[in-house]
Amino acid sequence: MSVELAARAAAALEGAEARDVVRWAVATFGRRLAVAASMQDAVLPHLVSRELPDVDVLFLDTGYHFEETLRTRDRVARALPVTVVDVTPRQSVAEQDAEYGPRLHDRDPDLCCFLRKVDPLARALDGAYDAWVTGVRRDEAPSRAATPVVAWDDTNGVVKVNPLVTWSLDDVHAYEEEHALPVNPLTRSGYPSIGCAPCTRRVAPGEDPRSGRWAGTAKTECGLHA
Ligand code: SF4
Repeated sequence: MSVELAARAAAALEGAEARDVVRWAVATFGRRLAVAASMQDAVLPHLVSRELPDVDVLFLDTGYHFEETLRTRDRVARALPVTVVDVTPRQSVAEQDAEYGPRLHDRDPDLCCFLRKVDPLARALDGAYDAWVTGVRRDEAPSRAATPVVAWDDTNGVVKVNPLVTWSLDDVHAYEEEHALPVNPLTRSGYPSIGCAPCTRRVAPGEDPRSGRWAGTAKTECGLHA
């Protein structure tokens, strides 16, 4: 698997239906393919498990999630033919607090995201998978506007597949309804973009959906996608 393969696939699959992108990924990587899901919604686990039943769904269990998100994870694990894998940091929140001091997310969110998201994902992917599927959409943020449908993930040394790049939030909700998927209730109560509880606030109608993430800071990405 290589940079060239990702570039060729990105060109060939630009504009393709999400399901066709997933079919290519399954045909190319088979069981060496994993899905990353924040449990903001169940679209990606559903979409990929239709082509690859029992696919591994990696959930970054940071220790800081909303209860609603954890319950959505549990409902997805029961409702869909997937294997949800809780990917945990090296340290518990208490251990991190002891080493770095409490509320690291307020003082150094980049380090906190590295310790609780970026490093755990890297360790989960290392040697176990050749590609991972994400739910990144181009309309989510300017930093995501040029996201290719397939890319080489240099950080993790694997291919990254983004079948939903051309979708809108309305497309996500329409897919959820069409397939009667478990819904994270926070998405219907002012949280269109959900991360860890200390770093996610409710947004007003019409406000930038991602403005509730790390609000009041310059940070816009956790480091997994940019
Ligand atoms: Fe830490 Fe906030 Fe990043 Fe979660 S989103 S890992 S709490 S900085």
